[in-house]
Amino acid sequence: SAKAAGRDCYRAFEEAMRAVVEARRTVENEIRTALAEGQFELHYQPQVSVLTGRITGFEALVRWNHPVRGMVPPGSFIPVAEETGLIVPLGTWVLREACRQAAGWPGAPRVSVNVSVVQLRSGGVVKAVAEALGESGLEPGRLELEVTETVMLDDTTATLGALRAVRSLGVLVAMDDFGTGYSSLNSLHNFAFDRIKIDRSFVADLASGEKALAIVRAVIGLGRSLGVPVTAEGVETPAQLERLRAERCDDVQGYLYSRPVPAAAARRMLEEAGGRVAA
Ligand code: C2E
Ligand code: MG
Ligand code: MG
Ligand code: MG
Repeated sequence: SAKAAGRDCYRAFEEAMRAVVEARRTVENEIRTALAEGQFELHYQPQVSVLTGRITGFEALVRWNHPVRGMVPPGSFIPVAEETGLIVPLGTWVLREACRQAAGWPGAPRVSVNVSVVQLRSGGVVKAVAEALGESGLEPGRLELEVTETVMLDDTTATLGALRAVRSLGVLVAMDDFGTGYSSLNSLHNFAFDRIKIDRSFVADLASGEKALAIVRAVIGLGRSLGVPVTAEGVETPAQLERLRAERCDDVQGYLYSRPVPAAAARRMLEEAGGRVAA
């Protein structure tokens, strides 16, 4: 009967829901264990000055060195960490680790750390930043936090307050993935960002599309008008680099120069050729 079919359907739905909830709880518990047992590590991707070809900074990107699954990329656990609030202790660990490692780098380049809106809302991020700087001895001006436009979507007084407090410590704040959110221009209007990072989707289309070029040109112009340097993400080909050079983009980051690498390899890049990297 239709009633019986409906019952079966509901049971199947319940089963599926239970499986989703259980999978989530498993990941949540695994993240806790991973934090306790030191299974997270940071990889670093160089950011290179288009003008000089030198490394100006590294972006810290978290990886989970999972005992069974191997190196797990952030896309599969950051969302769970955000939903469960575990991003707060994880983010604090990332800040401490990045500052600790960057403090010893020759040539004193910048280190950029991604910060989630959940961390900014939690109320503890200013203290976490101040402590990471204090215990590492890293100059505040060498630390940059990368935030996406989602920070402007909700509860803006709390998140903007946290960003302003961090910035008053002398730490830089970059707008990440610029152009992909709902409120790109509004964000720039509401907060004095120190850098704009053009999302890699625009860079990817640079060679093929006139539109992508128009957008990249406009963002670089916007940066110039605001007096803010612009970094292009996801630069993979010499043609993209040459385009960005012609448009006078400040910095580039992408596989063309290097994938994100472990801390020891990042340090070697700085030691070799005085931080000049070949494309
Ligand atoms: P994101 O901050 O926009 O980081 C850039 C991502 O693009 C990285 O992916 C990087 O490996 C990748 N990428 C760099 N160059 C290229 C390229 O030339 N081509 C392509 N196709 N990709 C490139 P990853 O490491 O998987 O990180 C993904 C996202 O996870 C990051 O995007 C960031 O939003 C988030 N994330 C990473 N680490 C952290 C962290 O410590 N805390 C928080 N809250 N989020 C993090
Ligand atoms: Mg980033
Ligand atoms: Mg990005
Ligand atoms: Mg991104």
